[in-house]
This record gives sequence, structure tokens and C-alpha cells, in this order.
Amino acid sequence: MTVQPFTLPPGETFRLKDFDPDFTGAYKKKKDAKTQTAENLARLRELQEMLYAQDKHALLIVLQAMDAGGKDGAIKHVMGAYNPQGVQVTSFKAPTEEELAHDFLWRVHKAAPRRGMVGIFNRSHYEDVLVVRVHNLAPEAVWRQRYDHINAFERLLADAGVTVVKFFLYISKEEQAERLRERQRTPEKQWKFAPGDLDERKRWGDYMAAFEEALTRCNTKSAPWYVIPANHKWHRNLAVSQVLVNTMEAMDLRYPDPIPDIESYEIPD
Ligand code: AMP
Ligand code: MG
Repeated sequence: MTVQPFTLPPGETFRLKDFDPDFTGAYKKKKDAKTQTAENLARLRELQEMLYAQDKHALLIVLQAMDAGGKDGAIKHVMGAYNPQGVQVTSFKAPTEEELAHDFLWRVHKAAPRRGMVGIFNRSHYEDVLVVRVHNLAPEAVWRQRYDHINAFERLLADAGVTVVKFFLYISKEEQAERLRERQRTPEKQWKFAPGDLDERKRWGDYMAAFEEALTRCNTKSAPWYVIPANHKWHRNLAVSQVLVNTMEAMDLRYPDPIPDIESYEIPD
């Protein structure tokens, strides 16, 4: 069984076993999804044009996944539809010494998109309740408080006109093994192969538990979580683009009114 449309009402418990990473819905093959995906991407470009012109709201897209889960692929194949002038991508790595000397949201807040912009987080503040929890990088009493801090932070963004949409790209453990092997043997992909990913893979179960709690506790009306079945890359692109179209359609995006008496200006030859 797969929960559709890939999310739950706020307050309900996410159980990943209710989601099937292999799900492709009515679409059986990549080519079946081609037209719809292309339409979605074209629509995203139009909506972003209005977002930028209106300069009133912002959109923040949060991407989380296990290693090889498709975060980079989603950015390339879906968010690639946006005009780069209006997009800012931030990839969150292990915090620097300076970042660690501040509260965990310090580096994140600085990367929040300004009005008119689409911000993309490749990993995010959720790492502070995922990798930090799985590896005991902070005491439990510290990371436990973070769900509330995250909800308050995301509400602050919403109140400031930033629409937040969060994706967990959900692949199976078997699919991850395939993708890691593919990275290992393909010269053009070998640069992505990180032996450390194998250590994370050993803690798959701990990560899934950490994801379930983050999804459940931080799935709010102003910042919903979507669990995207992502074993099939083409379905991931279709589903992510569809959720983004729906999200942006609900944002009340419009071209701004022209300056007064715009017709009255003579444009000399
Ligand atoms: P990649 O996305 O493959 O470039 O890897 C980035 C690495 O940074 C991953 O192993 C993340 O788990 C790690 N990372 C990101 N944010 C944090 C954080 N807040 N604390 C610890 N590690 C982090
Ligand atoms: Mg990596």
C-alpha cells in the first residue's frame, strides 16, 4: 500500500512501511510519464517567473534522502526547470567549527531564500535530528528539543512569506546498494563514491526510525513533508514536479500591477 498524495495530515504518524519506494502509480514505464513531467516542468518555469516578478513570496524546497537517494538528481532534472537567476541552492555538509559554535539553525537561517527567490536545501536542518541522532553527535536531551525548534523556525519562515515544502526521497535498501555499486564501477560516477556511505548504510534501520520521527513531528500545515517513492528516478521526477506545481499554484502568484499610466510613456525611436 502506498499513501497518496505522498503525505499525511499534520499530527498523524508516518510509518515508512506504509510507503512503497517502488510505487509508480498509474504510470508503468518511464515513457508513460514523459509528457506529464514535461508539462509540470514548463508550468514550474511559468510560476517561478511570477514569483520572481511579484517579489513578495519565497519558496523553500528541502531535500532529504539516504545517500544515493536522488537529491542531486532531483535538483538537476526537476529544479533545473527554474531560471537560475531566481534560484539559490545550499548544500549542507558536516558543520564547520564556526557553525558548531552557534545554535544549529544559525547557518540554516542565513541560507533562507529572500523574497522572489526559490531556495533549495540539499540536506538541511533535519540533519540535526538525523545524522546527529544516529551517531550521537549531540546528547539526546539536545536533539530532542530540536523538533520544536524546527517547527517554530519553519513557522517563522511561513509568517515571513516563505512557503516551505519538504521532500524525503524514499529509496529501498536494495536500490541503494545498486546505486552505490553503479557509482563504484562507472568512471563518470566514481567521484561520488564515498566509503563513509557504507557506514551510514549499516545504520539503515536507525535512520528510518529517525526519519519517521522527524516526518511525524515536523509535518505541519505551513511546512508539510512528502515521502516520494524514489526507486524509479523518472517517478521521483514526476512526483516531485507535481507536488511543486501544486504548492506553487496555491501561493497566489501574480504578475505585479504595472506602473501607473504605463501607456502614456512615449518610447522614442
Ligand atoms: P554529501 O551530501 O554527500 O555531500 O554529504 C554531506 C555529509 O554532511 C553527509 O554525510 C551529512 O550527513 C553530513 N552533514 C550534513 N549536515 C550535518 C550536520 N548538521 N551534522 C553532521 N553532519 C552533517
Ligand atoms: Mg554523498
